Amino acid sequence: MAAVVSASLWRFVRSASCSVGRSRDLIFNRVQKRGIAACIDPSVGLTDEQKEFQKVAFDFAANEMAPHMARWDENEIFPVETMRKAAQLGFGGIYVQPDVGGSGLSRLDTSIIFEALSTGCASTTAYISIHNMCAWMIDTFGNDEQREKYCPDLCSMEKFASYCLTEPGSGSDAASLLTSAKLQGDHYVLNGSKAFISGGGDTDVYVVMCRTGGKGSKGISCVVVEKGTPGLGFGKKEKKVGWNSQPTRAVIFEDCAVPVTNRLGAEGQGFNIAMSGLNGGRINIASCSLGAAHASVLLARDHMRVRKQFGEPLANSQFLQFKLAEMATKLVASRLLVRQAAVALQENRADAVPLCSMAKLFATDECFAICNQALQIHGGYGYLKDYAVQQFVRDIRVHQILEGTNEVMRMIISRNLLTES
Ligand SMILES: Cc1cc2nc3c(=O)[nH]c(=O)nc-3n(C[C@H](O)[C@H](O)[C@H](O)COP(=O)(O)OP(=O)(O)OC[C@H]3O[C@@H](n4cnc5c(N)ncnc54)[C@H](O)[C@@H]3O)c2cc1C
Repeated sequence: MAAVVSASLWRFVRSASCSVGRSRDLIFNRVQKRGIAACIDPSVGLTDEQKEFQKVAFDFAANEMAPHMARWDENEIFPVETMRKAAQLGFGGIYVQPDVGGSGLSRLDTSIIFEALSTGCASTTAYISIHNMCAWMIDTFGNDEQREKYCPDLCSMEKFASYCLTEPGSGSDAASLLTSAKLQGDHYVLNGSKAFISGGGDTDVYVVMCRTGGKGSKGISCVVVEKGTPGLGFGKKEKKVGWNSQPTRAVIFEDCAVPVTNRLGAEGQGFNIAMSGLNGGRINIASCSLGAAHASVLLARDHMRVRKQFGEPLANSQFLQFKLAEMATKLVASRLLVRQAAVALQENRADAVPLCSMAKLFATDECFAICNQALQIHGGYGYLKDYAVQQFVRDIRVHQILEGTNEVMRMIISRNLLTES
């Protein structure tokens, strides 16, 4: 299996000429196939079938994403056609049921795929993961009509989806959201605004948490708002540190009338739906961090082999050897926890929610530290945009903030510990 992983990740292996060449092309276009150490091989322990689609995802990352990730970042390009190609491989609705166009795979399978894709572009993969989460929410909580109306186009990525929970005044305290949905005849009339919406303005289907009842989580419902609905507007495109291959905008509702038939689930069920989506979303975003960290470990390792200081390769420094060992250990520990949480969620186990939070907390913190350390090992070169490692650092920093901040993850875990008898 090592050969498969190696062939898939070679584009991350930069050339030996770091001290003379600064072209970004050096990062991706100088072909060097190198083996990956078995101890960090992400295919270890997987079934033959999982290894197969992992290889497909790694190949897609290497061939369709990695060569473009710097350009997408630099020019803030939302790579719609590339994502549609990914959808042709089944990555638009990975854990959506097959009868509406999904791949019907498990949460663990999904994590394996997002980890692999993320080695090619963490930002784009993270958007694909949000899109998958929305498609799953409609598939799971929608009725037959809603599933048939929305899921096939989402699974093919003919249409793109956004998840709309956060508001200017409600982030960590999501249940305090204010966007109102007042029932008028057979429509809800929405007023309010959502902040930081991934894909906002460029996507077609908005899965919106809004207030149909009283205060608190029980007063929240979930409705699907289609682009083009009168009264649906968008803020300016945010300028961001990373995640530049996907737009982020405010989503604004001004007397926006949405048919009642667009509500997912029952009135008042919206917060539960939002949190159910996020449990999987947390595994997915943690998996994106794994892929970025995996690529960064390889980049650091190869830089250490070729960069000479004090007359010898950096790889001869025991300090840096130990750093590399710590990075690899944290990567594998993160992966184990993410995969354990994915299995718990798939089995709907009682420990699934805190495990998803632990996985998100641990993996996004540790993987950011890994990428940052990989940048440090690159020295000044790591700070240049010619080198991929800085983009992984910038792209996955936000994984510690969104889908519930890592402080909120601590709240969920400690609440579970303190309230369980
Ligand atoms: C690039 C990007 C994309 C995003 N995409 C989406 C999206 O698609 N859909 C969506 O709905 N949202 C999205 N978000 C929003 C994201 O989920 C929120 O930013 C996040 O939940 C935090 O909310 P906040 O920014 O309002 O921070 P706040 O809630 O104001 O928190 C500020 C800080 O205080 C901490 N904090 C808050 N309360 C406590 C407490 N009681 N104890 C300890 N610490 C606390 C937080 O952890 C954080 O560190 C996105 C954000 C970004 C940056």
